[in-house]
Amino acid sequence: MPGASLSMTPPESAAAPAADSGLRDGFGRAIVDLRISVTDRCNYRCVYCRSGESASAAAGELSWPEWRRLTAIFHALGIRKLRLTGGEPLLRPGLEDFIASIAGLGWDDLALTTNGDKLAGRAEGLRRAGLRRVTISLDSVEPEKFARITRVPAGFARVQNGIAAAQAAGLRPVKINAVLLRGYNDDEIEAFADFARRHAVVVRFIEFMPLEEGRLWTPEIVVPLREILARLERRHPLRELSHGTSETACRYGFADGAAGEIGIIAPVSRPFCGHCSRIRMTADGQLRTCLFSLREWDLRARMRAGASDSELRDEILRAVAHKEERHHIGEPGFQRPARTMVHIGG
Ligand code: SF4
Repeated sequence: MPGASLSMTPPESAAAPAADSGLRDGFGRAIVDLRISVTDRCNYRCVYCRSGESASAAAGELSWPEWRRLTAIFHALGIRKLRLTGGEPLLRPGLEDFIASIAGLGWDDLALTTNGDKLAGRAEGLRRAGLRRVTISLDSVEPEKFARITRVPAGFARVQNGIAAAQAAGLRPVKINAVLLRGYNDDEIEAFADFARRHAVVVRFIEFMPLEEGRLWTPEIVVPLREILARLERRHPLRELSHGTSETACRYGFADGAAGEIGIIAPVSRPFCGHCSRIRMTADGQLRTCLFSLREWDLRARMRAGASDSELRDEILRAVAHKEERHHIGEPGFQRPARTMVHIGG
């Protein structure tokens, strides 16, 4: 398999670590962060994610009882940060009930990533269910360009209302994720900084990763961290903020003390795999130990074949023991995963 030599995973015989030590991978990294995609359905068709055809729901999406069972097993293994993603998670009926059913397990963080389109009417209910905070994808602060990037007319105003509703409901901090693509929205870096100050939100710029359907990604389309930072500093001088070792974003406040914050997530130009604490579950029940995994662990099949909780636990331990060391974007032999971002969930 081309690139096989690149996949720095521990040998097959690597023993699964004992459950009571918390989840650790073969490189000794503590795995405390789980992202679950509750649906592949999405009402947006963002150019850097989807090719445009409507993505139907994954065949065999996990049911809420299956998600409750798995979430409890992951929590018992030491997962303490849970993020709900998609597709667009607000499209899946029963989301608030699911959150209410698992919130009591005890989380250091319980968050949701959404395109914000349907958030305005749901924010209060999500917070009451136990959600702590939201991250909203917003790739332009210009309504027309927003419509061009998402290929959805008139979504910008709804997302603005979603941001305001999240803040009013106390879902804080509200983080805004903006994937930067050269030639699409890189001309808005300064405007995004103004937006962060004006709305007192955390704007996080994300370097574009090769996980989209449309095969748009090239190294040239990526706007690297150093360029973003240089542009921002010319507009609003920044001061670096501390961040947790496994946090993906480099954080900056405004030197003049203004509200708002800037984050830069630079998986391409400044990879952070060394402290990775994340694993993911897809909507159809596959465990992925890295965003760029070429291998998946089918927990859905095991569950539906009657596996016990301890058998599922052992399978998760085995998977984590084989977690990839890092991604290999831009290296000779780099292999894109077959599954694209809309089917992984970010
Ligand atoms: S690319 Fe994989 S190893 Fe690196 S930070 Fe992302 S999930 Fe972790």
